[in-house]
Amino acid sequence: MTGAPVEADWAAAVAAVRDLPADARVQLICHVNPDGDALGSMLGFGLGLRQLGVRRLRATFPGPSEVPEPFRALPGLDLLVPEEEAYPAPELVVCFDAASESRLGALVDRLDTAGCALVLDHHASNTRFGGINLVDPHAAATSVVAEELLTRLGVSLDAAIAECLYVALTTDTGSFRFEATTPAVHELAARLLATGIRPGDISRRVFDTRPFGAVRLFGEALGRARLEPEAAGGRGLVWTYATLDDLARHGQRPYVLEALIDSVRCTAEADVSCVVKQVRPGEWAVSMRSKGAVDVSRVAVALGGGGHRFAAGFTGHGSVDEVVAGIRAELDKALIGA
Ligand code: AMP
Ligand code: MN
Ligand code: MN
Repeated sequence: MTGAPVEADWAAAVAAVRDLPADARVQLICHVNPDGDALGSMLGFGLGLRQLGVRRLRATFPGPSEVPEPFRALPGLDLLVPEEEAYPAPELVVCFDAASESRLGALVDRLDTAGCALVLDHHASNTRFGGINLVDPHAAATSVVAEELLTRLGVSLDAAIAECLYVALTTDTGSFRFEATTPAVHELAARLLATGIRPGDISRRVFDTRPFGAVRLFGEALGRARLEPEAAGGRGLVWTYATLDDLARHGQRPYVLEALIDSVRCTAEADVSCVVKQVRPGEWAVSMRSKGAVDVSRVAVALGGGGHRFAAGFTGHGSVDEVVAGIRAELDKALIGA
């Protein structure tokens, strides 16, 4: 693992923004199928650039341009454009929460067409694909890196920026429950809350609101969860799945399944949990979580994906059983100390 950014990295990033010509085009890009950290760090940073006077500024992500319902009240959504409307050759491109180029989909060409490519991320598996890389594997969220850069640029946190960064921070720390929740994370949260944002309203919108159809769909998916105590060298695996047909029957959009892993991973008898979500026939988005005995990022990377030690994912192919068989096989190789 490479360490946190050094002074020279920060200085290069600050210069890349400060030295932009007045009419420069800046394109912000976050990872495909964006979560709270991807959207929150990107929009919060975008609002900060706007405060600095950057006028030609667009934000986007690859794939369908629909923003998941929990994030539709985020400030700065007016910066978002469909990927087709992203600047073809911006002076600066900034990438958020993407561990590798593959997470940028068709927008990956901007790394070549842009005058400068700046990467903000916190995945240990980050491939350092930018010209300037601010990658801190110890940061709880990409928004932690974004806030430090905003501060170094002289941006003052207002409530709109703070709300974006707070959504990002709470999403990636599981509302301050995960191991990455350091004193510095709480200090950042304190600075964000001091702007007057309302954590109760934000959390209810982002975490605690879902359509009744999604509640029923979760019931179905949880009802068929499987526990395999002998998997992962006896640490245990719990898993379930959801198909496009399940979504259609309950009238639900795919984003509602993002929270399903949180109901599965609480299983006491399993260190590793997994949700296999159909994206299209024969293709599955796989979410994995670990309580610590197994490094699931190793499993995910081995299967073509990425992530963190305790939370990782990949794209699976074939049937559900084939995808889970692949996970079982990799789990046995990934045990810590093995
Ligand atoms: P998720 O299960 O979708 O919440 O993702 C958990 C972690 O795994 C996040 O840090 C993602 O960035 C990472 N991740 C999920 N899916 C993929 C993928 N297909 N390729 C690379 N990383 C992924
Ligand atoms: Mn993310
Ligand atoms: Mn993140």
